[in-house]
Amino acid sequence: HQTIAGYDDELAKAIADEARRQEDHVELIASENYASPRVLEAQGSVLTNKYAEGYPGKRYYGGCEYVDVAERLAIERLKQLFGATYANVQPHSGSQANQAVYFALLNPGDTILGMSLAHGGHLTHGAKVNLSGKIYNAVQYGVNEQGLVDYDEVERLAVEHKPKMIVAGFSAYSQVMDWARFRAIADKVGAYLFVDMAHVAGLIAAGVYPSPLPHAHVVTSTTHKTLRGPRGGFVIAKDAGEEIEKKLQSIVFPGIQGGPLMHVIAAKAVAFKEALEPSFKDYQAQVVKNAKAMAKTLIERGYKVVSGGTENHLMLIDLIGREATGKDAEAALGKAHITVNKNAVPNDPRSPFITSGLRVGTPAITTRGYKEADVVELTHWICDVLDAPGSESVINTVREKVSAQCKKFPVYG
Ligand code: PLP
Repeated sequence: HQTIAGYDDELAKAIADEARRQEDHVELIASENYASPRVLEAQGSVLTNKYAEGYPGKRYYGGCEYVDVAERLAIERLKQLFGATYANVQPHSGSQANQAVYFALLNPGDTILGMSLAHGGHLTHGAKVNLSGKIYNAVQYGVNEQGLVDYDEVERLAVEHKPKMIVAGFSAYSQVMDWARFRAIADKVGAYLFVDMAHVAGLIAAGVYPSPLPHAHVVTSTTHKTLRGPRGGFVIAKDAGEEIEKKLQSIVFPGIQGGPLMHVIAAKAVAFKEALEPSFKDYQAQVVKNAKAMAKTLIERGYKVVSGGTENHLMLIDLIGREATGKDAEAALGKAHITVNKNAVPNDPRSPFITSGLRVGTPAITTRGYKEADVVELTHWICDVLDAPGSESVINTVREKVSAQCKKFPVYG
């Protein structure tokens, strides 16, 4: 029996250390979650050995009869989960799913209108440093003084710049996006509406956040955030028409990818089955309840939450005007075994490497079993650390409390 331990102890230690870190730290990174043992089992399976370029029933390699079963299961379950009529489960990541949509429906130099990274959008929605901002003429919208998407600005920019595609979706926005309003704006200027639902896919699957499927021409997602599957992506659509579906299908393979990751596709199939269970609805409803409890406690303790609260799994804590920067706060909480990420807040005066904000989310702690009372307790500890910049004694006290709380909620048991 060949194990990593005993063969490559340096690597074995890194993996064991990471497993321990996941157990004894509180994970508040809004884009992370703990995949189930079944998902891990599929990802660690022999399906990783198989080349399967093409699609089920139409492969460029022999011996694909069993991986075809896995991919068909993933496709059918994904369609059922979101009420889609088209699904491609092969994108290796959320970024590649987005790249597929752009390449399928746009030409280089076309104009896209997406949410700016600084206001909560994702890199792939037209940021200058990303290919989406280099290949296309990217115009960016943002949020207003209240921290809400400024739909009037989106409409004004759309009318002015006549984009071929409007991109909706976000990495750091805590309110409900009005997909219908985006579609109305897209229709007004003859643009495609593309929704990247990566952050809220699990909430949408469970019916606790509105679905973009009835409104968007095409929708992408990651599978590893609120959806709680393996690291990966997908593209779906509802009644997009044969022409768009054909373009999407051929751009994923052979357009931008070669062989699909069959072990990951099998893990996606497991995750989609889990997401179809009634208990997944309870989980996602609890994610939102926990986030609301966290936002309420932060506000009671005098912290500003961008947009005044949350309607999903995440929120941004605005530290503008406080002594500690986002970077300092991330480091201090990290010492207390609370993992968060620094994040720019709208109109942040500091650089993206420093920032004046923190992004926090509840998908991972809710998977562990946290309920509102646990979240309130935890949020007070977060505020204790933030209230006392540089205080090692506060950090040490909080770390002990966090450690005891983590023991109550084992991740993998
Ligand atoms: N889209 C959104 C909205 C995201 O938040 C992210 C990840 O943070 C991505 C796409 C990219 O996904 P990946 O990291 O799998 O490329």
